[in-house]
Amino acid sequence: MKSIDPNLYIGISNKRYEEVRSRGEYEADSILIAEYYRRVGVLLQFMNKDSAFIFLGMSRLINKEPILDYDNLLTICPNLKDINLTIIKAICFNYLEWCCLIDNGNPLAIKYHDIYEPIIKLFERGGGQISIHHSDLVGGFGAFPRSISASRGDMKEFDISDSALELEIKGIEHAEVYLKEYLQDRDVTSTCIRCGKKLLIQENQSVAGAWYKIKCETEKCFDDNFSSYYFK
Ligand SMILES: [Zn+2]
Repeated sequence: MKSIDPNLYIGISNKRYEEVRSRGEYEADSILIAEYYRRVGVLLQFMNKDSAFIFLGMSRLINKEPILDYDNLLTICPNLKDINLTIIKAICFNYLEWCCLIDNGNPLAIKYHDIYEPIIKLFERGGGQISIHHSDLVGGFGAFPRSISASRGDMKEFDISDSALELEIKGIEHAEVYLKEYLQDRDVTSTCIRCGKKLLIQENQSVAGAWYKIKCETEKCFDDNFSSYYFK
C-alpha cells in the first residue's frame, strides 16, 4: 500500500479512461476486482451476512467500533495524500484496520489475512479513475455492483498472479491486432496465444455500430467482445 504511486493518479478525473490504461490492462483490473469480491463473499458467508457495501471495512464485521482514527492513514501512508479518489483512500484505510486486527492476533483476520490483496494490488498497478456512480463501482474496467453479495464467494478463485494478469493483457492486445488486420482483409487468420488453436471473429451489428466477438476454438479459452470504435 505504501508503494501506491500518487503520480499514477494525478489529474485522473480529467482524463478519459482510454488515455490512462489499455483495454487489456482494464481487463486485468476487472479480474482483480472480481477476486476481491469473491474473497469478501467467502468471509460474508462465514459471517452469515448477505452483502456488504463496498466502503464497509471488513474489520467492522468483527469489531463494531473503529480501530484506528482516519487521520492515521495519511501519517502511515503519506503517498496517498495527493490521490483524489475517495474509494482508494477508504479501502486503504479499511485494509489498515484489518492489518491491526491481524497484529492483535484476531483469529478471523488471521484466517482471511489476504482478503484485501487483490484490490490493493489493483491500486498499486494504477487502476485509473474508480468511482461510485448510482449503485455501481465504475471505471475503465466496466462496472461492478457497489454492494458485494455473499454469493460471490461461490465463484471459482481467479488467478491474480502477475503472470496470469500479463497473459490476460497480452491476449487482449493480440486480439486487437488481429481485429485491426481483419478489418483490412477478411481473409486474414490468427491463432490463440494460449493454446495455438484458431481464433474466430464474429461480426455483429448494434445501434451503436459494429462489434466483434473474438473467440478461441478451444472451449472456455479466449472469448471477448470488441468494438471497432478503438480503431477509428
Ligand atoms: Zn485458446
